[in-house]
Order: sequence, then structure tokens, then C-alpha cells
Amino acid sequence: MSGSLRTYLEDPFLGRLWQRIRAAGPIRSVSLDITHRCNLRCTGCYYFEEGMDRFHTAEAEAALDRWIERERARGTNFVTIVGGEPSLVLHRLEKLYAHFRLSVATNGLRRIPFEGFEELPIGISLWGNADTDRQLRGSGKVDVFRKALDNYRNDERAFWYYTVAPGLAHEVEEVVARCIDNGNRVLFNYYSDLAGKGGALDYRQGFERVREVIDRLIDRYPDRILTTAWFNQVVTSGRLFDQQWGYEVCTNLSTNYAPNAERLKNGQPYNRHFRAYNADFETVRRCCTGIDRDCASCFDTWEHFSWIMIHMKKHMANVHYFTCWLATMYMFYFITRLVPRDEGAALLPELHRRVKTAMQAADAPVST
Ligand code: SF4
Ligand code: SF4
Repeated sequence: MSGSLRTYLEDPFLGRLWQRIRAAGPIRSVSLDITHRCNLRCTGCYYFEEGMDRFHTAEAEAALDRWIERERARGTNFVTIVGGEPSLVLHRLEKLYAHFRLSVATNGLRRIPFEGFEELPIGISLWGNADTDRQLRGSGKVDVFRKALDNYRNDERAFWYYTVAPGLAHEVEEVVARCIDNGNRVLFNYYSDLAGKGGALDYRQGFERVREVIDRLIDRYPDRILTTAWFNQVVTSGRLFDQQWGYEVCTNLSTNYAPNAERLKNGQPYNRHFRAYNADFETVRRCCTGIDRDCASCFDTWEHFSWIMIHMKKHMANVHYFTCWLATMYMFYFITRLVPRDEGAALLPELHRRVKTAMQAADAPVST
């Protein structure tokens, strides 16, 4: 069945998602390393693997003030805070929170206080069960997962940003149950093995088993999982209709970074406002997650959200693909708190049900 946007939106559920996204207005986003320091050294952390911590300045506070001024003048309204560990520099986070809509990634070891950050979406990174997480992130000693669970128990701002390695799919159900028992939701990410450890961590074996377990968990916890089945399918297959994921189609590239100039001229869409800023609050790099790394290793969730979202047109062939697109788009807005929170939470089960039905009707692969 094919049709127009108008006919698709006659469905009241789709109409409501669309209306909420439109009401949120356009996003003009950048990413920013808020500090070059971190209190962990996770195995294969993209930030330290490529030595991005070399970008910093002794005049950080004044440089950040100037950065805020410049980005406000440029029209930036959304900042993804990465780095380094944001909870180590709460005074900087406070300044940014006063001027932009934010999304923050933290390792969860230090709690970002509620007071002063009431509406902040906080993604707590997690790489596996307590043993795996301790080995990969806590130098074999620190139970990072346990501490983060304690810090964000029943905290509505927080969601787990769970990076799953291809050979660790068997841990996922247990880990997700712990996160949900803690009163939180879960968004999945897919491990890249930038340290080249191989074995269970090697992305080249594919994410088929991870995809299957995530699809099962969406069915089991439709009000708690923040990954749509369509998103899961696109990331783990690396395919979006006729496109294969990689640098040539990647949409979040610093537009003022000279080495990206050729890519930006190849006719594929990209976010025209986007820049990935280093912790000197001045220079930019190729993309949020890399300078020179091989894009074949990139399964980054935020970048894939952007890939799907920018390609509305590709999803217009029928109402089933449009449903997958709109639901995934809405999910991004829900995670980043750009749509009303309570309403979004109530819509999640129906949203997941719609995506699954749509994928089956569109004959897109969906795990059962
Ligand atoms: S907590 Fe984040 S920034 Fe720090 S080492 Fe781990 S992955 Fe890297
Ligand atoms: S590493 Fe990922 S986000 Fe960066 S340019 Fe490559 S595909 Fe894009």
C-alpha cells in the first residue's frame, strides 16, 4: 500500500507522534567534549583510543563561555555532551544546561545531582554484566555497574546506554532485568572493539544474536526498552534500503572540518549544522566518535538514529516503513526529552507493537 503523508497521518496514533515532533521544532545539534578527563579507562573507549584527550586548554572556563556565546549566535539548540566524564565538571554542565537542550553520557560513578538538572536526559554507559563491566571498565576491580545502579535508582532522568559486544548476547537478559528492577529504561548500543581484543568482543562476527535478544526484550518490556525493532534491524544489518552504512552516507560530520569536504559534496544528505567539538572548546574533529578510525567499526547508536531520521523520504513508499521511521524518530525525541515525558512513556508499548506489526507487513526481517 502506498500513499501520501496526509493519508498516513489519518491514523490517530501516527498523527499524534507526528504532531509532537513538529511541536518540538527543528533540532540544530552539535556534540561537545565537556572535559578531556575521565575517572575510568574502559577497554576500547573511542575517546582515548584515538588520543582525543590531547585537545584541552588551561583556560577552559573562559573558552567554554566563548563557545556558548558562539554557538548561541550560530543557532545551536541541542548539545550532546560526551568526552571525558561530565560528572567531573558539574559547573560546566550547569552553564550548558542553562543555554541548550542537552543529552549527557556518563559512566555513573558519580551521581549528577537532581537539583539543578531536573530535566536532563542522562545516558549511563554499561558494557555487560557485573563481571564483564568490571573487567572492561573497572580495571578488574571497580564494580562500576553496581555503583551506577545505586546512583540512579528510580531516577526518571536516567536510562542505561548499554553497549553489547557480539559474543556477549547471553548476558543481555540478566543485565536488562537488573536495570529495569532498578527503575530505569534501556537503550542499546553495539560494541566496536577499538582496542582489537577480538574473541567475544570482535564486531566482525556480526550482531545477529544481539539483534535477536534485543527484539525479544522489546516484546517482554515494551514500556522500558528505548530501541525500536526497526532501529535494531538497521544498525545490526548496516543497511537502510539501498544504502550501506559508512562514511559516504554518515550524516553527523563536522561541516567545518576540511577533510570532510569531499564527502559533503557527494550528494548524500547530512546535518548541515553539525560539528563535533573537542575539549578545548575550539577545534573540531571528523565526527563525534572518531578522527581516523575505520568506519566499518562504527555501530554508534546516535549516528544511526541520525541516519534513519534524515531519510524520511526513503520510508515513504508505504505506511509500514513510514511507521518504522516515525516511531524511531519519536523514540529519539522521547529519549532526549523533546516531547512530553509522561505521554511518551504511556505511548511506548503501542509504539513498539506498531513497529513490529509494520515490519512484518513490510516483510522486513524481525526476530520472533
Ligand atoms: S567512561 Fe566513557 S570516556 Fe571514560 S574511559 Fe570509559 S568510555 Fe571512555
Ligand atoms: S566513525 Fe561513524 S560517525 Fe564517524 S564518520 Fe565513521 S561512520 Fe560516521
